[in-house]
Amino acid sequence: MERIKMTTPLVEMDGDEMTRILWQTIKDELLIPFVELKTEYYDLGLMHREETKDQVTVDSAMATKKYGVAVKCATITPNAARVEEYHLSQMWKSPNGTIRALLDGTVFRAPILVKGIEPYIRTWKKPITLARHAYGDVYKATEMKIPGPGRCELVYTAGDGSETRSLIHEFDGPGIVQGMHNRNASIESFARCCFRFGLDTKQDVWFASKDTISKQYDHTFKDIFQDIFDAEYAEQFEKAGLTYFYTLIDDAVARVVKSQGGYIWACKNYDGDVMSDMVATAFGSLAMMTSVLVSPDGKYEYEAAHGTVQRHYYQHLEGKSTSTNPVATIFAWSGALRKRGQLDGLKELEEFAGKLERATVETIESGKMTKDLATISSLPDVTVCDSAAFITAIRERLTELNEEG
Ligand code: NAP
Ligand code: MG
Repeated sequence: MERIKMTTPLVEMDGDEMTRILWQTIKDELLIPFVELKTEYYDLGLMHREETKDQVTVDSAMATKKYGVAVKCATITPNAARVEEYHLSQMWKSPNGTIRALLDGTVFRAPILVKGIEPYIRTWKKPITLARHAYGDVYKATEMKIPGPGRCELVYTAGDGSETRSLIHEFDGPGIVQGMHNRNASIESFARCCFRFGLDTKQDVWFASKDTISKQYDHTFKDIFQDIFDAEYAEQFEKAGLTYFYTLIDDAVARVVKSQGGYIWACKNYDGDVMSDMVATAFGSLAMMTSVLVSPDGKYEYEAAHGTVQRHYYQHLEGKSTSTNPVATIFAWSGALRKRGQLDGLKELEEFAGKLERATVETIESGKMTKDLATISSLPDVTVCDSAAFITAIRERLTELNEEG
């Protein structure tokens, strides 16, 4: 069989533990037999990050800027226990944080829907894509405990030394205070990423905040979204038959729960943290959640939303077979290959991505799945597979789809 050719390399970011094992199996079984895979390989495994003093992470992000599309395996974010386990010279930063900062991107998360895994919310028929602003607000806040009576103010000192003050509270006893910020430039990037992704995936965009209570802070988010939409995207949205919709966050929650899904829900940083867990859980499984980082100038990094599945990895090291779900990692590859195909005008590559996703979904719908899905599936006949057997079943289906043409 002729394998599909690629023109531009994909930026491949390898990772850690169980997902690193799956990564290789996915390549060997589901990609290399069908595609002449062309990648620029970066090993973000923790040991190699240590060897390169984390330069490899920066290099991989720069390569993403150059080529435009990356696919990333889950990686360990070191904590004290990992520093000991891997004899690290430093507690290296989260690779995702480093890459996100360099690409100035927004993360979009969407569930993979399959028959037999029903969302807890029965009206949901299509995926809900959650877009989380990943800069500022309470995540970059400064806080203080106020010991007793006194006055708290916000003070802005301009370049010329002049001060603007605003009273926060006149304390008559102990209390707490918090100062947080955002930058217009970051909010503008966020808005552009959301509108561009809406056009890309042909979905409406919803945005919500609490502008009625936060008349300066949240209202600025609302205004920036509206200004950018009107100036840069309104016409394209109209042509594509799409809409942009703003509402209050509490109203948005009520509408989301009653909706059928099928749109992008843009959230401020904290709302996005909370609501992405709610949406992921309500759709059934974190192992079925995809994630893509999109920069305002249209660079894409695809990955799974889950981590390296450490507990399964230790079982694997003991020689036991594990039933780790590879679906989100497979969809990271299909997402990246589809995007590469679209950018390079390679119709065959784009179609292959579709077939790979179809083969994966149909395998689960035929009753073959990993343990995490088997425990929540409503199908009558379910076969629990280990990861290798599950991937082999997908390969068989993929081969059939490929032969059908
Ligand atoms: P995790 O890897 O997401 O796994 C937590 C648990 O969720 C697993 O023990 C497993 O439950 C279940 N699970 C997650 N993905 C699964 C899959 N594909 N198939 C089957 N079950 C799955 O989170 P963690 O164990 O807290 O974190 C491990 C490492 O991942 C950490 O070092 C963390 O820094 C890193 N991490 C990386 C990323 C990223 O690179 N994007 C994201 C999050 C975490 P059971 O044990 O019950 O089977
Ligand atoms: Mg969270």
